[in-house]
This record gives sequence, C-alpha cells and structure tokens, in this order.
Amino acid sequence: MEVIKAPNSKLRIKTKPVKKINPGLLKTLTEMVKLTKTFKNPEGVGLASTQVGLEESFFVAKNNKKFMMVINPKILSNSKKTKSYFEGCLSIPTIWGEVNRHTSIKVSYLDKKGETIIQELSGVLAWIFQHEIDHLNGILFADRVLEQKGKFYKFTGQDQTGTDVFEEVSI
Ligand SMILES: [Zn+2]
Repeated sequence: MEVIKAPNSKLRIKTKPVKKINPGLLKTLTEMVKLTKTFKNPEGVGLASTQVGLEESFFVAKNNKKFMMVINPKILSNSKKTKSYFEGCLSIPTIWGEVNRHTSIKVSYLDKKGETIIQELSGVLAWIFQHEIDHLNGILFADRVLEQKGKFYKFTGQDQTGTDVFEEVSI
C-alpha cells in the first residue's frame, strides 16, 4: 500500500458507501494507520481511501495520540464560523495552502464495530474530518485554495535555526 500523489485520476473518484464491515476492510484500515504513521515531516494526521486507490468511503484520522477509523462519514451540519488553516496533504507533498473551513461540524459515521456515531467536532479534528471527507468526494485541498483564491506555499527546508521555511508559489 502506498500513498497516491497528485495529479492522478484515482484521487478524483467519488467514493461509494461501505456495504459491509468485514475483516478485509479492518485490515485495510489498520494498514492505513501504519502507513500514515510513517509520515513525519509533515506528520501524517489523516489518510483517505482514495489516497490508497480504494473506492469506498472511509478514512483514518489522528485524534490526540490515537487513530480513529471512520467509515461512511456524513457532515450533518456546519458551524457558520470559519477559520483559515495552513493545510498540507500526503498526496501533494511539499505544497501548503490556506483553506477556510468550518470551526465545528456535526458528523455521523460508523466505527470499526459498525456502530453509528454522531459527534460534534471542533478544533483540529473538525479540520481533519473536512479535509478527509473532501477526499472521499474527489476534492483536494488545492481545489479549496483555488476556489477561495488563497495562496500556495512550497516548503523549501529549514533555516539555520531549524525554522521551517515556506516560499509563495503558483500552481
Ligand atoms: Zn489529504
């Protein structure tokens, strides 16, 4: 299993709901958590099915120190309030951009046992969910940056003090 990089038509697939949670799916989700953990700079905090070439709706997301397995997620409602996030993606390495997203969302999804969970999310987790649910609809954060007329930045390395350096780019 490896992470598909843009541009690739597989990243544009609109996923279909998972019909049955079986051991094969759970094994895939476990592998996705392992794969996400291998990304350190930037740190992997989420990975969607489309990013590993699969076509059903699920993703993994880091919640504090643990990873959640999220199946068939739906956003039920959004906060009016939005916030700009400096966002990157494992499928678009070294490129970052500012994306405006809802500060909190109400979601429903199935957990790995197949139980329906309804949750209000805010902060980093709300942001990760919006990014990953976009992936399940074939949308990349770069599309959001363009649609919001935001700016792109390229990570060019670290300076002598160890601070990350970004340069504005157009893509
Ligand atoms: Zn992504």
